[in-house]
Amino acid sequence: MKFKVFIRSAALNPGVNDGVKCKPPQYVPLPKKPRALARGVLKGFISLCLLSFPAFFAGRLCADAPMEPKEFFTHDRFVFHREDVVKVPVNRKGQEDLGVFVDRMNAGLSLFGDGDYAGAIKYFGGASRIWPEYFGCDFLTALAYEKAGDIRLGARFYKSYLIKLENFRNGKYAMSMQMLSVISSERLETYEYAEDNIRKHLFTGYGGMDLDKVRPVVRVEEFIIYLLSLAAFIALYYYVFGVLVPHFKRLHRANHPPEGFWVCRKCWAGNPTLSNECLECGRIRVPK
Ligand SMILES: [Zn+2]
Repeated sequence: MKFKVFIRSAALNPGVNDGVKCKPPQYVPLPKKPRALARGVLKGFISLCLLSFPAFFAGRLCADAPMEPKEFFTHDRFVFHREDVVKVPVNRKGQEDLGVFVDRMNAGLSLFGDGDYAGAIKYFGGASRIWPEYFGCDFLTALAYEKAGDIRLGARFYKSYLIKLENFRNGKYAMSMQMLSVISSERLETYEYAEDNIRKHLFTGYGGMDLDKVRPVVRVEEFIIYLLSLAAFIALYYYVFGVLVPHFKRLHRANHPPEGFWVCRKCWAGNPTLSNECLECGRIRVPK
């Protein structure tokens, strides 16, 4: 392969040859540097790979794609590909769960399209139980409640959606990003865009409703789990500090009684060593 540079003397020395017949074009061969060339190609290839790596994970997601508000508040921007579930890099159980998730989402979306919002909400809730981090379930549930005329509950789901979306955008759900990029081709909104849109939507559409005053939804299952763990914690606390610790203290005192005394193991009363019977409960002293 030869690299040649075409030099026209008139171009290099403007004015000198003006009006004069141009010299025939000269061809100056460049020095050959095959190694440098190979290195350059390799570097280019590596940087291309590195650059395309995040793009690989981003997959079909059009991150930060601009969306009109009327596109944003629709169910058909959510698209799930059942056939791609097998490509998700998780174990078989994970893929099976994800398959059920996609089926429920698609069933919910289909019912939503038919105007059966109550039915759709059930399916979105079922999908959310499999993948609670996925903010799309909360958004679609919010949209379904809104369409069904219950904006109070809808707004609370919008709020839950925003909380999950913010966590997702802050990289707290790294696995979700990978899964989502494989099975979905939805247009991924930024948190700022979503927050702004929903705030305006509630304010202008529903008599000045203030997003800041909306409480997020806590799912019944989550609430029950929270209550149970709180109860378990309190029970454990009382068992340790109300039962175990005093018992070991008494046991320690029984094993190390004050000089001239013995401690009854039934009522834990101190008795003088001269008495072989507990003065408190009448128990006979058990020799060590
Ligand atoms: Zn006693």
